[in-house]
Amino acid sequence: PGFYRRLCYNTPYREFLRRHVTEICEMFDVDGFFFDIVHDIPCACFYCRELMRNKGIDPANAEQRWRFAHQTMLDWQAEMTALVRRYHPRATIFYNAGHVGPRHRRMAPSFTHWELESLPSGGWGYLDFPLKIRYTRTLGLDSLGMTGKFHTSWGDFHSLKNRAALEFECFQMLALGAKCSVGDQLHPAGRLDEATYDLIGAVYRQVEAREPWCRGARAVTDVGVLTPEEFYIGPDRRIPPACFGFTRMLSELKVQFDVLDSKSDFSRYRVLVLPDRIEADDELARKIDNYVSRGGSLLVSCASGLDPKGERFLLDCLGLDYLGDADYSPDFLVIEGPLAEGLPKTELVMYMRGKKVRPRAGAQVLMETHVPYFNRTWDHFFSHRHTPSAGKPGGPGIVQNGRCIYFMHPVFEQYHANAPLWVKRLVGNALRRLLPDPVLDVKAPSSVLAAVNEQPGENRWVVHLLHYIPERRGQAFDVIEDVIPVTNIDVRVKTPRTVRRAVLVPEGRALETRREGAYTLFRLPVLEGHQMIALEF
Ligand SMILES: [Zn+2]
Repeated sequence: PGFYRRLCYNTPYREFLRRHVTEICEMFDVDGFFFDIVHDIPCACFYCRELMRNKGIDPANAEQRWRFAHQTMLDWQAEMTALVRRYHPRATIFYNAGHVGPRHRRMAPSFTHWELESLPSGGWGYLDFPLKIRYTRTLGLDSLGMTGKFHTSWGDFHSLKNRAALEFECFQMLALGAKCSVGDQLHPAGRLDEATYDLIGAVYRQVEAREPWCRGARAVTDVGVLTPEEFYIGPDRRIPPACFGFTRMLSELKVQFDVLDSKSDFSRYRVLVLPDRIEADDELARKIDNYVSRGGSLLVSCASGLDPKGERFLLDCLGLDYLGDADYSPDFLVIEGPLAEGLPKTELVMYMRGKKVRPRAGAQVLMETHVPYFNRTWDHFFSHRHTPSAGKPGGPGIVQNGRCIYFMHPVFEQYHANAPLWVKRLVGNALRRLLPDPVLDVKAPSSVLAAVNEQPGENRWVVHLLHYIPERRGQAFDVIEDVIPVTNIDVRVKTPRTVRRAVLVPEGRALETRREGAYTLFRLPVLEGHQMIALEF
């Protein structure tokens, strides 16, 4: 509705739209409806004010207005879906807002599937699709990845995406359990552009060849990450930076993970991650404590686990008392002890302000901090950036209590801001401490993405390896131009049953395998872009 002036669903537009959809339903044999650009509108028009007043909602209160807008959307979608189903019970129905996240859990009854609009060059970036699919694939409906054939975004007529980029985007959809959709826009002359369909055809032929190993596939995951999106939507209602931080970091570490909300089933995961800002109410705190007491592990950072007012930890399993914001920032982790592997024995800066905590009896400090000589303020400065370490102890930086590890700093937001390698190593080392036997272990550069899916109907697992490097060549967005081969990748997969055969698919060439305890080992001689390896039981 509108371009881009959005119309309120509480105005007579609602009735206009209902009649319009009814007419389409009566005139055509409809496959499906894709309602586009439907957003919650925190509206205070004449009609909304009237409705709010009747329900005792304060139109001057922004938070109440947002909640009212969301309820308006839920009601309108339910009404539309009921209307479409009356005529075409098998039609697909999707309401597009450019994003699918935790707010969609309540909307799910009005949807038949999820379409994940995410054009990496169109403002979404390369981290958006993996973040969304890792959430929607836990919701029980099919997911469809949607990119575009454009160099930039919608409306970019007479432009083409690089072929390697389109391959990566489609193959990543397959690897992460989504179906593929590539958007185009029709020239007003009504003729399809041949070069566009040569490009899409060249990629879709490869998708078609891969389909038998992707149909009905389900991700095998060790780790569940609660998304801060459910708990913290800033005034601009954007996806919190920690979301992109954990998506990138855990992908680079080749951790097999899903993205969860507070309603998800935690029992399917061996480790839960609470990144940076997962506030806990009593109910969620009980659910998480319960999960840990039944053998689950926890990796928590910064403000996660605090009550909604940010005053104290509601998670008993952390074994920590909360003392407030850290006195100094930046401060420095003293790299030694059980998480120091792969890092030099020195002090390493943590740029963002952390939290001050006191370990309770039984909790073990895994890494200490040092503080700087002083905070940089109007009357204290030191050189171009932050003040160096005074070598004096600042308090615990990383603490373990049982199967829970707590980082005082917002490590995921930090990784999204400037990607310090030591932050990734520390999180990786902590995860390995909690999960020494992950389902998938791949020795390959950080730019290689790895996933493993099960195909229960086919009695096999399928490992996906991808290697494409998005690079910021123009200032506007990342592009992918080349396929750069990676050779001799050693892979270990922990399978519940003995692997009879490992086969490169769709090529059909068998690989030599070795069994080592619960793991099947093989070496992929060369990865060119995307490779699937079927493990047949
Ligand atoms: Zn309104």
